[in-house]
Amino acid sequence: MGNAVVIVGAGLGGARVAENLRLAGFSDPITLVSRERHAPYDRPPLSKAVLRGDRDIVELKPQGWYADNDVTLLLDAEVVDADADAGTVTLASGTTLDFDTLVLATGLDARYLPGTQQVRGVHVLRTQDDAVALREAAGPGVSAVVVGAGFIGCEVAASLQSLGTQVTIVEPAPTPLYAALGPVIGSRVAQLHTSRGVGVRTGVGIERIDVSDGAVTAVVLDNGTTLATDLVVVGIGSTPTTAVAEKLGLELADASLAGGIACDTQGLTSRKHIYALGDVANWARADGSRVRRVEHWNHVVEEAKVVADAIAGTDLAPSVLGVPYFWTDQFDLKIQSLGDPSADDEVHIVDSDGDKFLAYFHRDGVLTGVVGGGRAGAVMKMRATVAARPPIADLL
Ligand SMILES: Cc1cc2nc3c(=O)[nH]c(=O)nc-3n(C[C@H](O)[C@H](O)[C@H](O)COP(=O)(O)OP(=O)(O)OC[C@H]3O[C@@H](n4cnc5c(N)ncnc54)[C@H](O)[C@@H]3O)c2cc1C
Repeated sequence: MGNAVVIVGAGLGGARVAENLRLAGFSDPITLVSRERHAPYDRPPLSKAVLRGDRDIVELKPQGWYADNDVTLLLDAEVVDADADAGTVTLASGTTLDFDTLVLATGLDARYLPGTQQVRGVHVLRTQDDAVALREAAGPGVSAVVVGAGFIGCEVAASLQSLGTQVTIVEPAPTPLYAALGPVIGSRVAQLHTSRGVGVRTGVGIERIDVSDGAVTAVVLDNGTTLATDLVVVGIGSTPTTAVAEKLGLELADASLAGGIACDTQGLTSRKHIYALGDVANWARADGSRVRRVEHWNHVVEEAKVVADAIAGTDLAPSVLGVPYFWTDQFDLKIQSLGDPSADDEVHIVDSDGDKFLAYFHRDGVLTGVVGGGRAGAVMKMRATVAARPPIADLL
C-alpha cells in the first residue's frame, strides 16, 4: 500500500521534509503545496542580504530539484479546507488532494498594528514579496520608523540604515532584544545601533499612526513625541498560521506558550498520520513537558529530519533535538546564542572588545546559555558544555 504525503507550506520546514524523505529512500508520492508564488526560499536573508539588495532571492533548492526528485510542487495554491477522516485537503482552486500522511509546515503570519494593513508606507517583513516591497520603498532621503526592537525589527533597522534610510526604532521594553536576551545584551545592541546612526527610543509605545491620503505621515508616541516618517515597519511579532490545523480539529498549545500546533516529540499531532513542524508547531520535550514555541531556523531543520524519519520509518530511535541555537546579523555583527538563555537570567560578560562580546547566562547557579557577538568560534565550541549545564562557578 502506498503512503502519499501531502505537505502544506513550502518554506524551510516543508521543503526539508520533502528532501529528507527522498534522502531516506522514501519512494511514495510527495506533494508540496505553497500559497506563495515563489519556489521555496530561505527567510533569514530577507531582513539582511535581500533587503540590502545584495541578493535577489535565496532559493532552498536549485530549479529542477523538485522534478528530478519526483516531488510535485504546487505554487500559488492555498489550502483552504482539510478533512482528517476523509484524508483530503482542498485548494482555493477547488482541487482536492488525497493524503495518507499530512504534514503541516504553515509557519507564521506577521502581525500588523490594528487598522494599518491597507495604509501605504506601512510594511511587515515575512515574505520575499514583503522584502522586495520594502527595499524598493527605502533608500537615501527616506525616513523609516521601525516599531519593535525584536530580532526582525533590529535587523531591518540595520539593513535600512545601510541603504541610506534614516531609521528610528521604537520599543516599549527598556532595551532592544529585551524579551529574548535581557537588558545586558540589549544595551549592547542599542549601543551598536546608535553608533551607526539609528535612533533608538526604548521604554515608549505607539499612540497612533497618522495617515494622509491613504499614506503614513507620522508615528505618534505615547510620550507625546511625533516622528514624521515616510515608512513604518511593523516588527511586533507573528502569529502561528493554524487555519488548516483548526479545520482538522487538531489540538493547539496553550496561548501562554505562544500557541501553535501541539505535537509529540516526533511532530505527531493529536491526529494519527498528521504531523506539524517548524514555526507553527510546539513539540513536546523528551520528558513530555511543553515549553514556549520556538521560531528559529536551526530548530526547523532538526525537526524536519525527525518528521521525515518518523514518516519513512527509517529511524526508530527516540528523537532528540540538539542544543537550541540561533543567530542574528545586525550591521557587521553576528550575534549567536546556544542553549536556553532567558531575559531574567544572570549574565556574566566574560570577554568584551568594542561591539564584540561573549556572555554566559545562568540561573540558580547553573549555566543556561552562551551568547556571543562577533565570537563565532568561542560560542560554537561551547555546545557540549551548554548541553551539560554545569555549575556556572566551574566556568568563571
Ligand atoms: C525576515 C526573517 C528573518 C529571519 N532571520 C533568522 C535568523 O537570522 N536566524 C534564525 O535562527 N531564524 C531566522 N528567521 C526564522 C526562520 O526563517 C524561520 O524559523 C523559518 O523560516 C520557519 O520555517 P517554516 O517552514 O516553519 O515556516 P515558513 O518559512 O514561514 O513557511 C511556511 C509556508 O507555509 C505557507 N502556508 C501557510 N498556510 C498555507 C496554506 N493554507 N496553504 C498553503 N501554504 C500555506 C506560507 O505562505 C509559507 O510559505 C527569520 C525569519 C524571517 C521572517
